[in-house]
Amino acid sequence: MATRPLPEVVLIRGGTLYDPSTGHSRQRDVLIVDGMLAADGESVPSGAHVIEAAGCVVTHGFIDLHAHFREPGGEDKETLATGAEAAMAGGFTRVCVMANTDPPVDSPEAIAAIREKSAQLPVIIYPIGAITAKMAGLELAELRGMRSAGAVAFSDDGKPVTDGQVLRNALLYAADLGLPIINHAEDAALRGAGVMNEGALSTRLGLPGNPGMAEESMVYRDLLLAQNTGGRLHVPHVSTAGAVDQIRAFKAAGVAITAEATPHHIALTEELLRGFDTAAKVAPPLRTDRDREAVLAGLLDGVIDCIATDHAPHTVEDKELDMVNAPFGMIALESAFGLAHQALAGAGATVEQVIDMLTARPAKVMGLELTPLKPGAAAELVVVDPHEEWTFGIGDIHSKSRNTPVPGMRLRGRVRATITSKGLSDIN
Ligand SMILES: [Zn+2]
Repeated sequence: MATRPLPEVVLIRGGTLYDPSTGHSRQRDVLIVDGMLAADGESVPSGAHVIEAAGCVVTHGFIDLHAHFREPGGEDKETLATGAEAAMAGGFTRVCVMANTDPPVDSPEAIAAIREKSAQLPVIIYPIGAITAKMAGLELAELRGMRSAGAVAFSDDGKPVTDGQVLRNALLYAADLGLPIINHAEDAALRGAGVMNEGALSTRLGLPGNPGMAEESMVYRDLLLAQNTGGRLHVPHVSTAGAVDQIRAFKAAGVAITAEATPHHIALTEELLRGFDTAAKVAPPLRTDRDREAVLAGLLDGVIDCIATDHAPHTVEDKELDMVNAPFGMIALESAFGLAHQALAGAGATVEQVIDMLTARPAKVMGLELTPLKPGAAAELVVVDPHEEWTFGIGDIHSKSRNTPVPGMRLRGRVRATITSKGLSDIN
């Protein structure tokens, strides 16, 4: 399913077109000519590339607010180009990339370099700038200059901003710039050497635990800072029931905050660590079933705004280390829809709701405009089959890395094709 140049004429036949910007659905074929959506009723030229979409939903391409593409400095794990391949395979047409590269993206020049290097890729890459210079947590980076160069948000993700005054200043400054601050919320001292959720299971396995309060104490501090500064805080990868409750309470009090959850935190639990599989070692960790259900409920009732992948590639050599020494993170773009849809559909969500969590809702968090699904607009589409049950395999991975515990799992819902004006990836 590697991405190839978009054929001159593409016909998506027999699907239901769902537009997340209007909420409207209708049965119709979609004709794309020279990368643009054609007018209703236009005759189909011969030689069109046909994508059969009976039983499928055709909709806006997915938007990921949180991915790590490792370029510059970690090109053995992922590059902008291989990350874009993984995105296309997963139905994503836009990806916001985190700043914790080597060196970190903490200057207008570094933001401009990411944009330049990704300009020809089939997906749109939006750089997120670091909050602090060199991601050292001490002094604010050049936030204004980075916004002018194209940064869509600021984050030291991978590392928490420990100093409350620094984060307070960042929120004040970013409020003025109209961009969100995303803080990796884990109290480093409470997390300690924790490699999995702290609880009965970590004790039984003899592995160091990372308690839910490591996340909750920092989320609470960040929410207070957002309330007092008027800054736009976006809470990444919410993993505990307690953090969901805190976000619910602050939203109810009228504080303008947003939050995301990953597919793995709504679909998987700490039980996966029983086999000492380092592919299941993530930060924040997979938690209990009670936490998983609370995060899922938060997404369904809107307390958590959207799904984001936290796609975090690592080499096989890195992940072959033991549980204590292997790095945190899993790749997630390719399995995101199947894993999230399975969990959400199991909790009663419609496919349209899941699509909203991957399109309109993340776009709103980042202040991005969706492409209208109208004649004359550039193609930015995904075709999903919400009914297909399938086994995710190694062959479905297009990232440069392989670190995911999902291969071998049965998923419900599959991306059949991703189409942008620059490329096509399909499995027909
Ligand atoms: Zn993070």
